Amino acid sequence: MTMRGGAGGLAGGALRVVSLYGDVMNVYADRGNVIAVGARARERGVAVEVQRVGIGDPLPEDADLVLIGGGQDREQRRIAEDLAARGPALQRWVDDGVAMLAVCGGFQLFGRWYRDTSGVELPGAGVFDVTTVAPGPGWPRCIGDVLATSTLADVGEVVGFENHGGRTYLGPSARPFARVTFGHGNNGEDGTEGALRRRAVGTYLHGSLLPKNVALLDHLLAGALSHRDGREVSLPALPAPYAARAHAAAAEVARRRAPAFARDARPAS
Ligand code: GLN
Repeated sequence: MTMRGGAGGLAGGALRVVSLYGDVMNVYADRGNVIAVGARARERGVAVEVQRVGIGDPLPEDADLVLIGGGQDREQRRIAEDLAARGPALQRWVDDGVAMLAVCGGFQLFGRWYRDTSGVELPGAGVFDVTTVAPGPGWPRCIGDVLATSTLADVGEVVGFENHGGRTYLGPSARPFARVTFGHGNNGEDGTEGALRRRAVGTYLHGSLLPKNVALLDHLLAGALSHRDGREVSLPALPAPYAARAHAAAAEVARRRAPAFARDARPAS
């Protein structure tokens, strides 16, 4: 195929994608986010090199996009120390404008710390100014389909599925990634969902998330290309009909399954 060198002058060196602990942190097929990045980049004529980094593996010298998925407390305990040791490197990267997507258990451990269901405090990488506490047995988990509006203007409506016991609270320097219309979000109290720092996005949304939220996928790709090229890259519009249909279907499911919220938001039929 003649994709590289193609549309919109985006060709250049391959986009360097780091997939962190993909073998351990893969709840609800979060690994699909890595596949979606590769597919969308190829559609746009951009070559992608994915480096898989597991426990004990060295990080590459540099990256344009870092992805990590979710995992239960057990998996989080396996990776926490290894990930926390990478905290300074990841913080340097995020301040340098590397794009990142951290989902659920990965998002929690990209924060400062996570106190898990058994009361053990796991250290985080400190990418996001957030802390997370699992209130313990007896408390309901935050489960269900989510419809939210991103605080990122180019991302807009986001859909996904959440399933977490931990409640995440934003620190003073954290901005939310989104505000929930239906769903629990970070803690079921303040309406916030996820967190942002520069080009890094933390979120509770599984899906896989990116195949049905192409605006977020494009936002992350633009961020990764901006880091690669050292200038602000904006992507030309490129329709994604399957993704749009998947998004609409997931949004409809979220509305249907949230009758308590939906009662006020939709006309009775
Ligand atoms: N173990 C975390 C929690 O339940 C994260 C779960 C997940 O990644 N789905 O809060």
